[in-house]
Amino acid sequence: MHSTVGCYVHIPFCVRKCAYCDFNSYSGYTGGHVERYVRALTQEIRRSPRLTPPPHRGTPGGGGAGRPVDTVFFGGGTPTAIPATDEADLLRTVRETLPVTPDAEITTEANPGTMDVAQLEVLRAAGFNRISFGVQSFDAGLLQTLDRIHSAEEAKNAVRAARAASFGNVSLDLMFALPRQTLAQWRDTLEQALALETDHLSLYSLIVEEGTGFWTLRQKGRLPLPDEDTAAEMYQMAIDAAQGAGYAQYEISNFARPGRECRHNLHYWRNDPYHGFGCGAVAYLDGARRMNLKSPARYAEAVETGGDLTFSSETLTREETMAETMMLGLRLTQEGVDCARFTARFGADPRDLYACEIETFVRRGLLEVCGDHLRLTPRGVFLANDVMMAFI
Ligand code: SF4
Repeated sequence: MHSTVGCYVHIPFCVRKCAYCDFNSYSGYTGGHVERYVRALTQEIRRSPRLTPPPHRGTPGGGGAGRPVDTVFFGGGTPTAIPATDEADLLRTVRETLPVTPDAEITTEANPGTMDVAQLEVLRAAGFNRISFGVQSFDAGLLQTLDRIHSAEEAKNAVRAARAASFGNVSLDLMFALPRQTLAQWRDTLEQALALETDHLSLYSLIVEEGTGFWTLRQKGRLPLPDEDTAAEMYQMAIDAAQGAGYAQYEISNFARPGRECRHNLHYWRNDPYHGFGCGAVAYLDGARRMNLKSPARYAEAVETGGDLTFSSETLTREETMAETMMLGLRLTQEGVDCARFTARFGADPRDLYACEIETFVRRGLLEVCGDHLRLTPRGVFLANDVMMAFI
């Protein structure tokens, strides 16, 4: 159980804020601000709690602080918006501080339009072995609607450049159910994505989050989104296209060639512990979840002055941790909730704990029990939220 853990590093800067984005990301930061942030981040990583003793048996969060790190994920924001040499230095600091395993999956998120081959080569040489591009669409009009800074051609060139720089593990993010998006447009974007033959695809439905530009437009009745049936049809189209091209759906929104599942995100979905560094980053260690201050400037100041970095924190009860483990595990469409692992962690079998809920959804054809695995059926995937909510 939890023999290894993940490590997340947050780079909050973006060239421009996208209309739909509610991530902890900021545009307009330059030079000195970025340098100060990178210095603070380096300091925070160096002070990480790597010497925390192993957890007591029965700790709901399962410990994690001193365990080998087998995934490192630089996310944002746009990690590639800072100099590649800074990302390389930060990764070196992670390695000097935490027990990163030799075969660790080391990912950087990247946006087309923020890098060139020379930068990619610096990242590859530093040890990044996976790159995840936020492409979102190959439709010029939709890219504009989303406020993305790149063109479809730049996105394709970025993938080719990553291959040229010897990235053997490349992922693309795409979004559907976008304003005025048609089924034909989505099919075309999927086809263009599949033609790039990446190792992994993340295919997300747009969610309009409060506080975003899209939220304001929707409030004003100026965000013409596809209706629910069309959105469901787009999702089915994504599943069919990806599976037809040899990708397995292993999570509600994620598809991978064999062996190319995102190991870092698997830690989240299995509710494993993880380190988190940077403004707004979340760490989940020794049963406690702690989020750092969100503002890059306030975060940097707190690091510099030895102040408290905490924005929020909570220690989860055993019941809360079990519920989260169910909810997250059900996102994994093949593995589902591993009942044997759950039992080893909590001392109780989820098939007994949640017998009523499971029976209800099995009867409705939304859940299935396959050996030791409890998972959504293909129909249940479309009603995943309803099923997952029943366990919390
Ligand atoms: S590039 Fe990504 S993180 Fe940055 S604003 Fe756009 S969606 Fe948000």
